[in-house]
Amino acid sequence: MVCRVGVIYGEEALLYSFPPPHPFRSDRVERFYRDVLGKFIEEYREKLVLVKPEFPLEDELLLYHDRDYVEYVKKKSESGYGYLDYGDTPAFKGCYEASLYVVGSTLKLIKKILSKEIIHGFNPVGGLHHARRDGAAGFCIFNDIGVAISYLLGVVKFKQILYVDIDAHHGDGVFYDFYYDKNVIIVDIHQDGRTLYPGTGFRHETGGGEAVGTKLNIPLPPGAGDGEFIEAWDEALSFIDKFSPDFIILQAGADGLKEDPLTGLRYSEKVHEIVTSSLHKLSEEECEGRLLVLGGGGYNRDNIVKAWFKVLYNLLNLSR
Ligand SMILES: [Zn+2]
Repeated sequence: MVCRVGVIYGEEALLYSFPPPHPFRSDRVERFYRDVLGKFIEEYREKLVLVKPEFPLEDELLLYHDRDYVEYVKKKSESGYGYLDYGDTPAFKGCYEASLYVVGSTLKLIKKILSKEIIHGFNPVGGLHHARRDGAAGFCIFNDIGVAISYLLGVVKFKQILYVDIDAHHGDGVFYDFYYDKNVIIVDIHQDGRTLYPGTGFRHETGGGEAVGTKLNIPLPPGAGDGEFIEAWDEALSFIDKFSPDFIILQAGADGLKEDPLTGLRYSEKVHEIVTSSLHKLSEEECEGRLLVLGGGGYNRDNIVKAWFKVLYNLLNLSR
């Protein structure tokens, strides 16, 4: 059996793009298409499945987001003026539809993984981890990860989801919206919140109520490189070892690589290779390969290419 990897591909994925000079623009995904996907397409014709972006159902979006907030985004999208938050996430004409494509694409990959049409998936424009149920934040309008986790627990009825976030920024939207949910295991390795947006993600936060012990934050100081990350990842693996997830989601932000314009971490793309390879192996041992990778942040375009190349190479090559 050929083990297929689905990748979101289509011009709809380029619509999620804030007006210049905002750092989160569609040329990020264009670079991925040209310099990563473009390099694999011929050689891996058997294994690569290009998946067209689509909208989610309204009910699916509302599994996570509040209806009032969805209506608010729709209105701001029609006018295209002002900000959706306090100054990081501008509204633009069509931002509602663009955000729907991000969420729908992540869900479409999940459905294809569940039907076994593909075994792993990658959505380069997904991973919008700062958005909350009721608000935008940090370049994130709708939280495709939040919708995905809500779908996997609420509709598919999976018992345990593992979410790993290696973006340089703490994934506060996902972390706090599932803080009290013991079925959501979270590992988040990021630049110390005292030195970087969103200012959260401390060691003592391990989950609330019956979920105590299901979350692990590992903040790293500015300047941390591969050595510090590898040490953190060893700790993460011993933590993950205690659980048996039914589905694994990796937010593979590339903004921890050195010379990102927004952060102070100094990883190399080796970090993406190590993490993808560990989770890939784990997914095949624990949950029939059900692993979904989402692009997340990354504002140095060359770093995006280096990091996501490692991710996709690993998914394509180490599969059964
Ligand atoms: Zn980030």
